[in-house]
Amino acid sequence: MPAHHFIANRQVPATDGQTIPVIDPSDGLAYEQIARGTAADIDQAVQAAHAAMGDSLDGPWARTCARDRGRLLADWGRAVLEHADELAGIEARDTGKTLHTARNDVLALARYFEFYAGACDKLHGDTLPYETGYTVMTVREPHGVTGHIIPWNYPVQIFGRSVGASLAAGNACVVKPAEDASLSTLYLAELAARVGFPAGALNVVTGYGHEAGAALSAHPGIHHISFTGSTVTGQRVAEAAARHHCPAVLELGGKSPQIVFDDADLDAALPVIVNAIIQNSGQTCSAGSRLLVQEGCYETLLSRLAERFRGLRAGPASMDPDLGPLVNQKQFERVRQILAAAQAEGLTEAARGQVAPGAPAQGYYQAPVLFRDVPRDSALAQEEIFGPILIAQSFRTESEALALANGTSYGLVAGVWTRDGARQLRLARQLRCGQVFINNYGAGGGVELPFGGVKSSGYGREKGFEALLGFTTLKTVAIRHGVTD
Ligand code: NAD
Repeated sequence: MPAHHFIANRQVPATDGQTIPVIDPSDGLAYEQIARGTAADIDQAVQAAHAAMGDSLDGPWARTCARDRGRLLADWGRAVLEHADELAGIEARDTGKTLHTARNDVLALARYFEFYAGACDKLHGDTLPYETGYTVMTVREPHGVTGHIIPWNYPVQIFGRSVGASLAAGNACVVKPAEDASLSTLYLAELAARVGFPAGALNVVTGYGHEAGAALSAHPGIHHISFTGSTVTGQRVAEAAARHHCPAVLELGGKSPQIVFDDADLDAALPVIVNAIIQNSGQTCSAGSRLLVQEGCYETLLSRLAERFRGLRAGPASMDPDLGPLVNQKQFERVRQILAAAQAEGLTEAARGQVAPGAPAQGYYQAPVLFRDVPRDSALAQEEIFGPILIAQSFRTESEALALANGTSYGLVAGVWTRDGARQLRLARQLRCGQVFINNYGAGGGVELPFGGVKSSGYGREKGFEALLGFTTLKTVAIRHGVTD
């Protein structure tokens, strides 16, 4: 039995009965089937979401007050924790994540639901001073029906930050998970129904991006769309949405720098630098994929890093490796091609980890690689790789570091390692990106911290209270009541 879509709290097969195989990245073998959704399935899900909202905000979900939405999200978060092991197992097998990473993702998901559960009834408008005889207020209302296109790298976390915030704000959701990682999303939809979300509040249609994803972003019944994924697909989604005046939030990845100055605490920086590139096998939008090091500590840091890289092992979850396989054959081949091009360009490989002996030959394992002295304009220094490949470049002055850091088309995240307080503040202001981390990288990924990019990394913010504002539209109500004679 293939896994069906989940629409109006029911499992629904694909209209035309087609399916997509689910491949285990650790051995390249299919172990499940999911429904291959089409425009007809998306339409069915959008209709279900509209029924939950009602034509005039009079549907069962639109009538659920903020307090009760918060209670449902809190119950859902508890259900996630009760099923954490099962959910982590599903996610690890579907994406190739280590069990440890998958479990952390599930804990983060529960935390998103907790955060937005508590935030539902703190979201409000204002009263505005205006002319005598008027009372003017603003009311925060849901957009209506929101679309969510989720990638395969952090399915449950991205689901939590996007769908959690949207439901908290009172929208009904239609979700299209990635064809490579849909099983956890379907499981979460079942859990939502079980804890009492009314039919149509949350709907999931699985399928390919060019079919179900394209149909979702073009559907005129969608009032807001959130997309996380590649720059090219993000552009397509935004163009399709713009044709029906639908606002979009785009989170499109990056080429994020970590800048290390001579006065940095290298012992503290080293493990963080390694983790920021091997976490999730480098398939992280905010991966610290460029290392910019001041010349005084360049050789020391690189030789210590090279030693660490040589000891890293990629393998299946059962071997408790440092990193798992890449998600699919396409990513695997893409990374290999990038590495081959770097070799052809004559770039210097400083160190390479290993694929664990005994890892299945058909798995998509990529050993971590460290490149040094990579020229600024090289593709390796400019383009997102989405694999465990770190490039290092040296700089002399703070302004050189800033020019290198800001010198790509992306602007998602930056890390700065220095003990100089004034320099910390200068760089925090001048780095062109959505998040700056000083003497850390990622701050543990806190759900409270608004996240998103500038330039080709996208626009709009997810996470934190900021995301809730984005999932609402503001209505101004002006009441002319005059004054008492
Ligand atoms: P993608 O952007 O094509 O896929 C992401 C999501 O978009 C998936 O759910 C997919 O089904 C959907 N999609 C694809 N085409 C669509 C379309 N025409 N309309 C609507 N939805 C569509 O990414 P990919 O091909 O899986 O990966 C390619 C590269 O994208 C990666 O190497 C990486 O650089 C980048 N990426 C970034 C992130 C991130 O977190 N920012 C996540 C995944 C991939």
